[in-house]
Amino acid sequence: MSKGTPSMGKRQHKTHVKCRRCGSVSLNNHTKMCASCGFGRTARMRSYKWQEKSGY
Ligand SMILES: [Zn+2]
Repeated sequence: MSKGTPSMGKRQHKTHVKCRRCGSVSLNNHTKMCASCGFGRTARMRSYKWQEKSGY
C-alpha cells in the first residue's frame, strides 16, 4: 500500500461530489456534508478564525 501518486489511480468511487453552495468538490457523498463550506452541517458558511490572513 502506497500513499503517493501511484495509489491515486485506485480511487474509483466518488467520496466528494460538487457542492451546490460553494461549487467546490467537497460535498461528501456519504455524509451529505460539505467539507469546504459546511453545507448539510450548518446553515451558515463554514468559517474559522484561523482562516483570516492577518493576526497573530
Ligand atoms: Zn460547499
